[in-house]
Amino acid sequence: KRLAALLLAVSVLSGCTQSLETDDGDGGPSATVALLLPERKASRYEAGDQPYFAQKLSELCPGCEVDYRNAEQSADTQLQQAKDALAKGAKVLVLTPVDSIAAGEIVALARSADVPVISYDRLVLKTAVDYYISFDNAKVGSLQAAALLQALGAKASAGEILWINGSPTDNNATLFKQGAHAGLDGKVRVAAESDTAEWNPDNAKAWTARTLPTLRGRTIVGVYAANDGTAGAAIAAMKAAGMPQVPVTGQDAETAALQRILVGDQYMTVYKAIRTEAETAAALANDLVRGNRPAVPATVDNGAGQVPSILLDPVTVTRDTIASTVVKDGFVTPSALCAGA
Ligand code: BGC
Repeated sequence: KRLAALLLAVSVLSGCTQSLETDDGDGGPSATVALLLPERKASRYEAGDQPYFAQKLSELCPGCEVDYRNAEQSADTQLQQAKDALAKGAKVLVLTPVDSIAAGEIVALARSADVPVISYDRLVLKTAVDYYISFDNAKVGSLQAAALLQALGAKASAGEILWINGSPTDNNATLFKQGAHAGLDGKVRVAAESDTAEWNPDNAKAWTARTLPTLRGRTIVGVYAANDGTAGAAIAAMKAAGMPQVPVTGQDAETAALQRILVGDQYMTVYKAIRTEAETAAALANDLVRGNRPAVPATVDNGAGQVPSILLDPVTVTRDTIASTVVKDGFVTPSALCAGA
């Protein structure tokens, strides 16, 4: 009996200390949420994900703080940043892994400190995580493939395409590639295909520049590029080599890409509602800070079990649909599209 009373007292007391630590006086918790993003070359992270996430979290949890880190494409840097954020007392990790498998080490560290992890945009593989929020990424690839076929029309059988994937350490890149191959294989021949280390547009540009001279005499009718950064890189390299404009795919609806679409240098991009993605992650982080674990609509197998998941829907954007998609949604303003054009 005494032991039971003692245990009860301890649990009540630890409950009190916990709420004392986390109560900001208004009844809301005060806690730090670490936001670990992978790179800066794609504009989305610092122009979209980070500010939208921080804004929403501060609305939902005025006492919460965001400890934002950017790994600049280095998995080692990301591990150090995660260790540092955990050491500084982060209560939730929102993690977009640079390397989907290596990031298992980050997740293991977090979980051993009882810190839940949201796999944000990119899935951590082979280590259990608490939640995954992203888009249907195989669908991104199939939208890119369908648009490219549409743009090529009869030319699809009259030539070959260049094919540029994303980083081989990003599970999303694998899914984009699978979705695109499912749509294009057997319908158009591939002259050359490459992954892009670190998703770095400089690497995609260098690959295109050194590949084009090896294809002299062949007809390149289009380019599959996995995102807008690699699309812009391929377009720049083709221009430098004096090649005519051909349809090029992309993804992210970056302002620069929308401008290229308006002038005809790029055929399409894929709009992913990053604001919704970031705000959904913020709402979930807020729940986790408060000790709630909400039910979510889907699950995805990451090789270590079923991860509760929220998958948003990507949308094709071509010149004809810029107004009815990204502009209508407030993702970009007409004046931003005109600036610098
Ligand atoms: C994201 C894309 C982004 C790419 C490069 C992918 O995981 O889903 O939106 O362009 O990484 O950062």
